[in-house]
Amino acid sequence: MTGARLKHYGWGREGEGMSAEERKFVLGRYRAKFATDEFDTIAVPGLDDLSLREPRVAPPASLAPFCTTDRYDRAAHTYGKSYPDYVRAMLGDYNCAPDVVAYPRNEAEISAVMDWSGAVGASLTPFGGGSSVCGGVEPRVDGIKHKAAVTLDLRNLSKVVEVDPVSRAASIEGGTYGPSLENQLKPHGFTLRHFPQSFEFSTLGGWIATRSGGHFASLHTHIDDFVESLRVVTPVGVLETRRLPGSGAGPSPDRLFIGSEGTLGVISRAWMRLQPRPSFRAGASVRFPSFFDAARAVRAVAQAGLYPSNCRILDPQEAFNTGAADGSAAIMVLAFESGDHPLDTWMARALECCADHCGTPEPAKASDAHLQGAAGIWRNAFIRMPYAREFLTPAGLINDTFETAITWDQFENLHDKVKAATERAILDATGVKGEVTCRFTHIYPDGPAPYFSFHALGRHGALLEQWQAIKNAASDALIGAGGTITHHHAVGRDHRPWYDQQRPLLFAAALRGAKRELDPQGMLNPGVLIDP
Ligand SMILES: Cc1cc2nc3c(=O)[nH]c(=O)nc-3n(C[C@H](O)[C@H](O)[C@H](O)COP(=O)(O)OP(=O)(O)OC[C@H]3O[C@@H](n4cnc5c(N)ncnc54)[C@H](O)[C@@H]3O)c2cc1C
Repeated sequence: MTGARLKHYGWGREGEGMSAEERKFVLGRYRAKFATDEFDTIAVPGLDDLSLREPRVAPPASLAPFCTTDRYDRAAHTYGKSYPDYVRAMLGDYNCAPDVVAYPRNEAEISAVMDWSGAVGASLTPFGGGSSVCGGVEPRVDGIKHKAAVTLDLRNLSKVVEVDPVSRAASIEGGTYGPSLENQLKPHGFTLRHFPQSFEFSTLGGWIATRSGGHFASLHTHIDDFVESLRVVTPVGVLETRRLPGSGAGPSPDRLFIGSEGTLGVISRAWMRLQPRPSFRAGASVRFPSFFDAARAVRAVAQAGLYPSNCRILDPQEAFNTGAADGSAAIMVLAFESGDHPLDTWMARALECCADHCGTPEPAKASDAHLQGAAGIWRNAFIRMPYAREFLTPAGLINDTFETAITWDQFENLHDKVKAATERAILDATGVKGEVTCRFTHIYPDGPAPYFSFHALGRHGALLEQWQAIKNAASDALIGAGGTITHHHAVGRDHRPWYDQQRPLLFAAALRGAKRELDPQGMLNPGVLIDP
């Protein structure tokens, strides 16, 4: 990480945020939505105003060079970036702040922190960029078992260690942030091309640990497919899997750790499959009379085997909220990319699929169509929106997102049930009509990954309860309609109740067995994925 330090409350670095003009646009949309001129806005406490408990443990001299109990470090590692995280930080609730934050520089130092945490009975939370939106990085102690909480921030493991241009893969350290990773690959002519919305402030190890979903709307959707092999530091030793393009040798050890959310070990390094930088691009924005027309076109594109790099559809309200359209049409943001061949034929066939479902392309200049029109406006809003929560929450607004995946045969039913349940819950919880919108982030031949956003006018003093009531109703509806509790945001602690319903009981038992073997003291991320 270079430049100013990360905010302890909010998105990005200190001093960064939305411009006055951007804030005016976002707040203007909310004023219109809730027919109000002013919001009841409260002040967020500054770093010096926070009261943090005295650290319950102190690192020994051998660990002192890379450990700290500094106020900033503890505050900045208390929460991730979920809505309830923002609310509790806004209220100055830092009860779960870690006692110690360690910044190991190599695997030996990770092991040393694990040994010490085990000896003093501390829980240990692996921390990448801290962009978790499901309660994945909040340190927890269970009063009997853990006497303190230590957070392990991996930012010093930040190198691309080796590039294999023949097989097109690179060995990359787990704490490498997105921009640094791409900058280090650039001189070699390669890219990982994994761009989650949180790309700038999240890390390779975090992406692998959460099975993150990146830039590609189809084919290479999750980080999973780019992982060639892994090195993992566990409390009982280090393991490394073999570099292979594929293997049928039993259950995949990589797959055990991909998505393990810091509960089984720390991903210190991974060989990742690379791609050439794209030199051919084709893009378009397509308007549809309704969201379901757009969804049918997406299905046609996905089942035609076209694999667009982007095929997001926005429902009319979502398109309006980002400024990409006037609210009368659903929008498809369509793009193809290749480092090898022109894409005009692919685009032409995709537009035929759209035309079959009443889709009309917006006119755009050919060369940079992917940055123009509704697609370009949506893309800008997409990159800037993470900065909005830090001022919307103090204004008493509840804005959050949740995502799922579902087979095509059940998609329309799930969409209608989830939207209705969430809208009803907003009204019940706040007494004010809210708004629920939907877009697709990823698509598959057998179904889409719908991504819902909701907006509610909350009440200070009740924001957490109001949010939880809405979240519960939405999650119940997702699981009830056959979806997954998360397509790429991970489980953490917030999604545990629904993850537990979704996963087979025997699989849960097998996972607990793996945990007992690799983390016998149960120090790693207690409560995430598995009960402490
Ligand atoms: C504005 C915003 C946009 C987002 N957009 C996306 C998106 O487009 N796609 C998507 O998939 N997610 C998205 N997320 C969620 C989040 O960014 C991802 O889950 C991301 O993969 C987390 O990476 P991180 O480095 O920040 O990990 P952290 O948040 O630090 O950690 C996440 C989990 O992984 C564990 N962990 C972290 N590093 C390691 C490691 N090296 N070894 C073992 N365990 C580890 C932690 O203990 C924790 O359980 C978004 C979040 C925000 C706030």
